[in-house]
Amino acid sequence: MTVSVNMSVRRDSKSVSVNDTSVTMEGWVQDIRNLGGISFVILRDRFGTVQITLPKKKIDPELFEGLTSLSRESVVSVTGEVKASDQTELGLEIIPSSFIVHSNAAVPLPMGVIDRVNTEMDTRLNNRFMDLRKPEIRAIFELKSLMLDLLDEAMRENGFTQVSTPKLSESGAEGGATLFKVDYFGRPAYLAQSPQLYKQMLMSTGLDRVYEIGPAFRAEHSNTNRHVTEFISFDGEMSWISSQSDVMAMIERIMDHILKGLKERGEDQLKVLGKDVNVPAAPYPVLTYSECIKMLIATGMDIKDGDDLGTEGEKMIGDIMAEKGHELYWIAEYPEQEKPFYIMEKDGTKFSYSFDLDYKGQEISSGGQREHRYEKLVERMRKKGLDPESFDFYLNAFKYGMPPHGGWGIGIERLLVKMLDLPNVREAILFPRDMSRLSP
Ligand code: ATP
Repeated sequence: MTVSVNMSVRRDSKSVSVNDTSVTMEGWVQDIRNLGGISFVILRDRFGTVQITLPKKKIDPELFEGLTSLSRESVVSVTGEVKASDQTELGLEIIPSSFIVHSNAAVPLPMGVIDRVNTEMDTRLNNRFMDLRKPEIRAIFELKSLMLDLLDEAMRENGFTQVSTPKLSESGAEGGATLFKVDYFGRPAYLAQSPQLYKQMLMSTGLDRVYEIGPAFRAEHSNTNRHVTEFISFDGEMSWISSQSDVMAMIERIMDHILKGLKERGEDQLKVLGKDVNVPAAPYPVLTYSECIKMLIATGMDIKDGDDLGTEGEKMIGDIMAEKGHELYWIAEYPEQEKPFYIMEKDGTKFSYSFDLDYKGQEISSGGQREHRYEKLVERMRKKGLDPESFDFYLNAFKYGMPPHGGWGIGIERLLVKMLDLPNVREAILFPRDMSRLSP
C-alpha cells in the first residue's frame, strides 16, 4: 500500500507504522551526502526533514544515480519503505523505490538555506522566497499569523466590531510629510497613514467599539531598523470612556491575551527560534512625559522639557525600566504640542490626554482620549495649522452628537519584533517596503 503523508510523521511518529509501510514524501532536496557505499538525501517540507537512505548495493543503480545527482532545493516526491532508525532525529528513514522530480533547482542557489553563514539582509530580502525556506524565518510568520488570530479573539471577547476603512483618501490623517501622493484619475489622492479619522467618525454611529487590522502607509524618510513605509496597523477606538485610563486598561487586556496565547499556542515555533515570551502582569507602570524628561536629565542626557524623547531617550528609559523588571510600561501626558489635533488637551495645562506604550525601550503604540467637542476640535486643528474646511467629511461627524472616545494604534510588526527580540522590523514583514526597497 502506498500512502501519501507529509512530514508531520516527525511530530507524531507513533501514528505512522514505521515498518513495512510504503509512503510518499514530498519536499525540497535540502542536502545530499555521498559516503561511498551509502548516500543520504535529506528531504524538507514545512514540518521538518526526513532522511532518504540509499545503500548503493541494495538500490537500483538508475534510482541511486537519479536521486543522488539532484541539485539542492529541487522539488521531488520519493516513495519508499519506512524503516526504524536510531541514527536519525525522527527515529525513521525511507528506503526509496521510486521518485518523481517535480522541478529541478538551478545551480548555483542565490543564497544558502542551511549554510551556517550569515547572509546579508539585502540578499535575504532580494531572495525572500528562499530565505523563507529556513524554519527559523518561517516560524516568525507562523507566530505573526497566530498573533492576528489572538487579536481577533481578544477583540471579540471585548465586544469590538471589526471594520475596514478606505486606504485611498482625499486628505491624510494629520497632513504633512509622511503622506504618499497618488494620481487618482487626474486628481491627487493619498494612501492612508492610519484609519484615525474614519475610526473616530464611526464613534458617532453607534458602532461604539471598533477595530481594524490593515495596512498603513508612511512616506518615512527615516532609514532605521524600526521604520518601513508600509506596515500593518492594529487600531482600536472605543466610546463612552471616562478617561484615557479606560483605553489603557483595554490595551493591557489585549496584550495579556496575545502574550499568553503566543506562549501557549506558539510553543513549537518559539522553540524553533529558541525564544520565550514573558507575560508581564497588568497594570503596567505609568510614567509621565515629565518624569521621563527628569529621568533622562539625571542620566546626563542633553534634553529639556518640551523636547521629543527621541529614539535614544526611549531606549534609555527602556534600560532604566528593565533594571526595575519592567518590559512594558506607559509614557503618558505628552505636551499637547507634540500630539496631533485629535488628541484632547488637559485643560489649563500644556499637556494632553495621550499615551505611548513602550516595550523594551521602543514605542509600539500611541493613543489617547480624543477631542470629541466640535468647537474645541476645530480650534485645535487651526492651532496645528490645518484648514478645517478640508476636513469637512470628518468634522461633520462631530456636529450631530459624538460620544467621548479614545483609542490606539499598534504597529503589528514592531510588537512582534520586540516580543521575539528581533533586530529589525523588516524581519517581521514578508516583503518589506522602505525608502530604497519596492521589490520583490
Ligand atoms: P515613531 O515616532 O516611532 O516614528 P509614530 O509616532 O510616527 O512612531 P504613530 O503615528 O503613533 O507612530 O503610529 C502608531 C504605531 O504604528 C507606532 O507606535 C508603531 O508601532 C507603528 N508605526 C508607526 N510608524 C511606523 C513605521 N514607519 N514602520 C513601522 N511601524 C510604524
